[in-house]
Amino acid sequence: MKICRTIKEVKKEISRWKAAGETIGLVPTMGWLHEGHLSLIRNAKKGSDKVVVSIFVNPMQFGPGEDYDSYPRDLDRDAKLCKKKGVDLIFAPDVEEMYPEGFCSYVDMTALTGELCGKTRPIHFRGVQTVVNKLFNIVTPDNAYFGEKDAQQLAVIKRMVKDLNMNVKIMPCPIIREEDGLAKSSRNSYLSPEERRLAPIIHKALDMGRDMIKNGERDSGKVIKAISDMILSVGITRIDYVSIVDALSLKPVDRIEKDILCACAVYMGDSARLIDNFSLEI
Ligand code: AMP
Repeated sequence: MKICRTIKEVKKEISRWKAAGETIGLVPTMGWLHEGHLSLIRNAKKGSDKVVVSIFVNPMQFGPGEDYDSYPRDLDRDAKLCKKKGVDLIFAPDVEEMYPEGFCSYVDMTALTGELCGKTRPIHFRGVQTVVNKLFNIVTPDNAYFGEKDAQQLAVIKRMVKDLNMNVKIMPCPIIREEDGLAKSSRNSYLSPEERRLAPIIHKALDMGRDMIKNGERDSGKVIKAISDMILSVGITRIDYVSIVDALSLKPVDRIEKDILCACAVYMGDSARLIDNFSLEI
């Protein structure tokens, strides 16, 4: 397994593979890998001849006061995990490599990013789109693997690829959870033992909301209130949002009549903001 720190090195390796007719799968990550990332890698191994994992904590997608500085980083640890899983190449650039002096081009969109996480993280998706675009241009993958855990990100990337006729197939991968239901996340490492004990309520509450809808409830407000009440009942005090949105437009719906995404973000303690969701076909 190669670890490349520069774009030039990656491009060299990619052109050798392409010349040999090999397909390439890309798994973009910010590192501190866990089972969620490893499941993306497993899917990539199944669907592509060569697997590239990018590890880059992208400053452009963090807002002021967010956890860019404290985000966990350990390339040696991540490299060991990737090697074990049969990854062919890690691309781990530094910030200057990705955004050299004078950098001033961005990719953005005028829909899909105004609700859910986009409301409290107004510059986040512009940063995500820009870095993913750069990664696609550098790695030129046939397939790129994204987790359904970041449902809004997945919708944004799919839309960007469609709108801009990008030559890559987006492969969604299911949410991987801890045994108690908590969605795996690099940010779970921020949780104190007490917060970790409470955190599975997020998934439990979403499951309860899903059951309400399956049992015929069509009033979004009632489902959102039930989910929020359940999360607050254990002593969690800060919910960023619980929303039910149209699965395609990501616009909030009052009545649940078409396919929906129900998503939430919850603050735990000073530093952790956890997200989770479910989608439902109606
Ligand atoms: P991150 O390193 O948090 O930027 O995540 C990199 C990729 O891994 C994104 O496509 C995420 O959606 C995906 N991912 C993170 N956690 C999970 C999880 N628990 N299950 C499935 N995919 C995940």
